[in-house]
Amino acid sequence: MKRTPLIAGNWKMNGSSIFVEEVVSTFSSFNDQHVDVVIFPPFVYVETMKKLLSNSLVKVGAQNISTFSEGAYTGEISGSMLKECQCDYVVVGHSERRVLFHESDQECLQKVIMAQTHGIIPILCVGESLKEREHEQAFSVIEQQLMAVISDSRVNSQQLMIAYEPVWAIGTGKTATPAMAQDMHHFIRSLLSTHLGQDTAQNTRILYGGSVKSDNASMLLAQKDIDGALVGGASLVIESFTDIIRAASSVKRV
Ligand code: PEP
Repeated sequence: MKRTPLIAGNWKMNGSSIFVEEVVSTFSSFNDQHVDVVIFPPFVYVETMKKLLSNSLVKVGAQNISTFSEGAYTGEISGSMLKECQCDYVVVGHSERRVLFHESDQECLQKVIMAQTHGIIPILCVGESLKEREHEQAFSVIEQQLMAVISDSRVNSQQLMIAYEPVWAIGTGKTATPAMAQDMHHFIRSLLSTHLGQDTAQNTRILYGGSVKSDNASMLLAQKDIDGALVGGASLVIESFTDIIRAASSVKRV
């Protein structure tokens, strides 16, 4: 099974109109068919970027989605609003949202369902903290976060992507070794296989995230079960981001 690698750039609460212009001009005619690229700017830039990249294969996503459809929820953005902006993907359950905004597995499930209801592909982030890894709980934490979503019959497993992001590697400069990341990706794929079937497991893209940079991308992306990267800091440096995309485009799996 050939899974096209996907490189996602999560800007978090960074960027500006000037940076949007720079990124758009870099990617305005991007047409590499060997790699999928999705940029996740803050909400306010999604619609503009989507329009300006209409001749490019680069897709645009949102960093969050409300669990609610509409109403008195100040500050929230609904699935239908994201769809109106032609948003293609949404990040769900990023560790910064789980830790800083106390998002639970149940809310992640609601967000996945809400995204899929509007035809937006959710990228579900899962990841263990340093303490959990040190206490040898990494695999059970990932299993719990994943099962909370995939075991619900309302979730369309054909329209779901997973990102394994060890919390201790996000924005810290520490990266899981390729072998460590591959172990967890293999574990996630085996859970998908057991609960959703072999075909779904083989078709689902599992991204790695956590201090992916141009100098470690190739080794990580060469792993059998690593199908791309969710890139934070390095997506804010255009040259680094394009280097990572190039690495994904030319990668040979081990
Ligand atoms: C992220 O934001 O999901 C992330 C992995 O960040 P960084 O690449 O900066 O570690």
